[in-house]
Amino acid sequence: MSEIIEREKKVFIQFFNRYPIVIERAKGCWIFDEDGRKYLDLIAGIACVSVGHSNEYVIERVREQAEKLIHVSNLFYTKPQVELAEKLAEISGMDRFFFTNSGTESVEAALKIARRVTSRKKFVSFTGDFHGRSMGALSVTWKEKFREPFMPLIEPVSFAEFNSLESLENAVDGETAAVIMEPVQGEAGVYPAKKEFMKRLFELKEEHDFLIIFDEVQTGFGRTGEWFAKDIYGFEPDIMTLAKAMGNGFPIGAVAVSEEVHSGIQKGDHGSTFGGNPLACSASLATIEYMEQNNLLENSRKMGERFRKGLEGFDFVQDVRGFGLMVGLSVSDAKGFSQFAMGRGVLVNATSERDVRIIPPLTISREEVDLALSVFEEFAH
Ligand SMILES: *Cc1c(COP(=O)(O)O)cnc(C)c1O
Repeated sequence: MSEIIEREKKVFIQFFNRYPIVIERAKGCWIFDEDGRKYLDLIAGIACVSVGHSNEYVIERVREQAEKLIHVSNLFYTKPQVELAEKLAEISGMDRFFFTNSGTESVEAALKIARRVTSRKKFVSFTGDFHGRSMGALSVTWKEKFREPFMPLIEPVSFAEFNSLESLENAVDGETAAVIMEPVQGEAGVYPAKKEFMKRLFELKEEHDFLIIFDEVQTGFGRTGEWFAKDIYGFEPDIMTLAKAMGNGFPIGAVAVSEEVHSGIQKGDHGSTFGGNPLACSASLATIEYMEQNNLLENSRKMGERFRKGLEGFDFVQDVRGFGLMVGLSVSDAKGFSQFAMGRGVLVNATSERDVRIIPPLTISREEVDLALSVFEEFAH
């Protein structure tokens, strides 16, 4: 066993089940371990490193900003923060932004805003949804195993069955503050909401006047082939949460709201010391600019299609799902499949006994997709 792994066992709180690889450096879609072994990375730090590892454009901007100003708190104004909010408004159509340091914090802010603005208490989430691990975000996360030891969490929360119209209709009413949903469930193994389900949700909003929160922490920033998954469905949420790919792995997140929601928010309702610091905002601006300059939305769509077509041709694959480079598949033994691929130098993520998630950098090339598919093909034999 690696010396680093032995040392980790002694000093780390043992929350994580890690793969037995100590990663030293990475470039583009490739990761190198401490023994110099290389892996094709189809996990990208869990859908974070969208413009590729060690992206020179992002590195340069982070370096320039670090030399000028890293942090001053939100007691002051800084330019990168304003520039990033303007950029996000342009690509998302949302009106106003608050910056956080993670997806969980973005969800936490969204829940607080929903209660504040509606003066209602009740939340509705869905079977399979994942929104984070803090007390608030955990309260709307589906997995019983994650929630149960930490009760009581915030209440009331009900879970409707994902993609069941009847269950959704029964879950919402005039006391619902907000419905929070992942338009495409990520941690569950890439399960998209059906279009008619989404349509019904927005009809019910008209009837009961609740807010709709799209948790786009994982689906945001081109992962699904559009800037945001909401653009695939053609519906505008009241609140949207962001993080993961926002800074290409640099920790930054955001909560976005409509002007109408903003009108119900008061000064002092929420805050953050680090949130939106100039360094994080520069990393995010550079990431978004790089995506625009290199047509990465198009590459996400094309390479995602290439993955799905290839996977559909394999007998051992039972189901293929997703949009863009958010690819899900079901096999009889997901752990066995991911271990097989890892042994041949390709990293994929098993999210359950049957489900595998493929979420590579959006910069991935045809050759790299084909290389991965050729490794998967060997699994059949
Ligand atoms: C990862 C994720 C979160 C939590 O984000 P963290 O940065 O780990 O706090 C929340 N919602 C969704 C949809 C996610 O995929």
